[in-house]
Amino acid sequence: MYCKHCGTQFDDTMSSCPSCGTPVSLPKARPVSNVTTFIVLGIIFALVSTLFFPPLFGGLGIYFGYRVKKEKDGLGIFLMILNLVCMIFGMILGAILGQNLF
Ligand SMILES: [Zn+2]
Repeated sequence: MYCKHCGTQFDDTMSSCPSCGTPVSLPKARPVSNVTTFIVLGIIFALVSTLFFPPLFGGLGIYFGYRVKKEKDGLGIFLMILNLVCMIFGMILGAILGQNLF
């Protein structure tokens, strides 16, 4: 790359210009992730899946947990497990109540 201050060419891996010391402008931050939305949806689907259509909402919740996992590992796994537990609980609850929700 070239120094935007003095025009000296230098290696891309360097953090500042070797000639004048101007720091290299960092690449633009990644676009704001919608991970918060996935977390909220994951929790909502976990709760919904205990009452309505466990495989559908539980599955969606696990999917959102998976998406969260890419950004926040621990939280994503937690969401996936939460949805799995809620899904199973919802299925058992549905069976006990004799509802054909699945
Ligand atoms: Zn320079």
